[in-house]
Amino acid sequence: YRKTIIAGNWKMNKTASETKKFAEELKRLLPRTKWCDIVVCVPAVNIPAALKAFKDLRVSVGAQNVFYEKSGAYTGEVSADMLKDLGVKYVIVGHSERRQMFGETDFSVNKKVIAALEADLHPIICVGETLDQRELGVTMELIALQVKSALAGVPAEKARRCVIAYEPVWAIGTGKTATAQQAAEVCTFIRATIRHLYGARIARSVTVQYGGSMKPSNARELLAELDIDGGLIGGASLEAEQFIEIINAAN
Ligand code: 13P
Repeated sequence: YRKTIIAGNWKMNKTASETKKFAEELKRLLPRTKWCDIVVCVPAVNIPAALKAFKDLRVSVGAQNVFYEKSGAYTGEVSADMLKDLGVKYVIVGHSERRQMFGETDFSVNKKVIAALEADLHPIICVGETLDQRELGVTMELIALQVKSALAGVPAEKARRCVIAYEPVWAIGTGKTATAQQAAEVCTFIRATIRHLYGARIARSVTVQYGGSMKPSNARELLAELDIDGGLIGGASLEAEQFIEIINAAN
């Protein structure tokens, strides 16, 4: 069927030593049986420290971005092969902060998804509408466009390895969560979009997460929705106790 994945997006937070401390706290709190996969997406420079710290916790380490070229004169960038070689499993692609502040476009997102899949990484593809777009009533058109362009040229056997994260921009870091019903409506629509592209079997096997002010107090309700297969968590993933509560809500 499909995995439930609880992923933390640390954004530009925590040093290597703070990463180690977080892993120690998490180790103390982690339940013995986990029904979901756990991922922590850390700043690129802290990936080696995170891999070491989370090694015997069965927590995967993810990156927050990747460049699509294989190698060459691209100062400051990191390739998919470099991530893969370190032992990274997931990479966030197209986060709204990168779209808004770092010039990420549907076109570059598509190239990054292809590069990540080529290196056997699992891209976590972020899509989501702004408040203006929601109020204009174009949410579904926009989501369909973002999903389709991110997956352009991706064959079915690779598409099944993608994770899609629905992150309404107006819910990110604002404390304003989409209601479970609003979130589920879009996540169901995302799955329908994948069904149109690849058929029912692939659509059933793709993990669709919700992200945007997910926290212990609302996680259970959001994760109870059939088409919400996990979360991409910013702020609340920085505190081991809160992150564990969300993991427990998925169990
Ligand atoms: P917050 O959980 O802090 O709203 O961030 C969500 C997010 O952007 C995860 O990628």
